[in-house]
Amino acid sequence: MSALAGNYKRKKISFIKGKGSFLITADGKKYLDFVQGIAVNCLGHANQKLINAINKQSKKLWHISNAFIIPEGERLAKRLVERTFADSVIFQNSGAEATEAAIKVARRYFYSIGKSHKTRIICIKNSFHGRTIATIHASGSKKMTLGFGPKVPGFDHFEYGNHEKLKKLINKNTAAIMIETIMGEGGIKVIPNWCVKAIRELCNKKDILLILDEVQCGIGRSGKFFAFEHAKVKPDIVPIAKGIGGGFPIGAVLMTKKVAKAMIPGTHGSTFGGNPLAMAVGNAVLDQVNNKLLNNVNKLSKYFFSRLNNLKSDYPQIIKEVRGMGLLIGLQLHNDQTKFIEKLMDNKLLTIRAAENVVRILPPLNVKRNEIDLAVKIMTKVCKELKK
Ligand SMILES: *Cc1c(COP(=O)(O)O)cnc(C)c1O
Repeated sequence: MSALAGNYKRKKISFIKGKGSFLITADGKKYLDFVQGIAVNCLGHANQKLINAINKQSKKLWHISNAFIIPEGERLAKRLVERTFADSVIFQNSGAEATEAAIKVARRYFYSIGKSHKTRIICIKNSFHGRTIATIHASGSKKMTLGFGPKVPGFDHFEYGNHEKLKKLINKNTAAIMIETIMGEGGIKVIPNWCVKAIRELCNKKDILLILDEVQCGIGRSGKFFAFEHAKVKPDIVPIAKGIGGGFPIGAVLMTKKVAKAMIPGTHGSTFGGNPLAMAVGNAVLDQVNNKLLNNVNKLSKYFFSRLNNLKSDYPQIIKEVRGMGLLIGLQLHNDQTKFIEKLMDNKLLTIRAAENVVRILPPLNVKRNEIDLAVKIMTKVCKELKK
């Protein structure tokens, strides 16, 4: 029996190494990995430049307190600022910490301008913002909050697409609207561009901050560096994590000058957040998430979607919808997806579930066309078997 607690229902398989889009078991079996640690290993497994960066930094300095200047972090923050809407960055270690910090920044901003009554955050019901006590309540999911004590106040929820409810929830105490630009765990639901724009305008009109959680859909996954760039809006606060570390735990909250001003000494901190080892890796990730990589995402996304839509036409009784953007892809089935995912795995293709019967497909951003062909071949075989 495992000494690990039972909070995961783990597949009975383990891997000893990986290379690019593939994972290898102890007995030499090779799996096409279209989970990639849930959109974390954006450059695949064992990326040589990331190996070099971590090796080099590991011989110099791993960790030092944020009480001192950390040049690698200064550099990564500057590069993120140059590349995005943001003027300022706070580094964390995970997505939940990043979204929680985003909530703190929003509240502290209104406090700092004498509007301390503005504390409430509006979120989408059954979204996903992490597993800390505050973020599970932000997610508004019964399943995630069940048994975890008193409800954390300060969060209001509307259902995805229910714009009337969203407008009704806004009052003088609202500080922010916090949504995932593309809902990941919630079933790969894209918030349409016109809708992201309308929410931005609503925020402007009502003196509310816009927090766009790009922990899963950010760092090139959507085909642009941030998914909200498709809608041409400028958010106020953006938590990131997953992709930015390429497999090393890094989180961050990006923000505009306006709100960053509230984060004076002592308002927030993290022992590990932004340490030299993490920052060296983050810089090496950013080196590679360039236009060439984004072109690969866009080109192969188009190809993958067209192949998947063909598969849907061939098996309409199994596949209900192909969803997503870039290389954040969901195959929504008519029925429960468990068996489908198991069969893909039996055929050496790894995928992962999301809500609403969705099979989530997350190749690395540097995936190759022939790897997509292999995935489609396996999916076709499984559809054929399940149709019988
Ligand atoms: C994964 C995820 C988180 C939480 O990240 P952790 O690193 O697991 O804490 C938060 N928001 C979104 C959108 C995510 O996909």
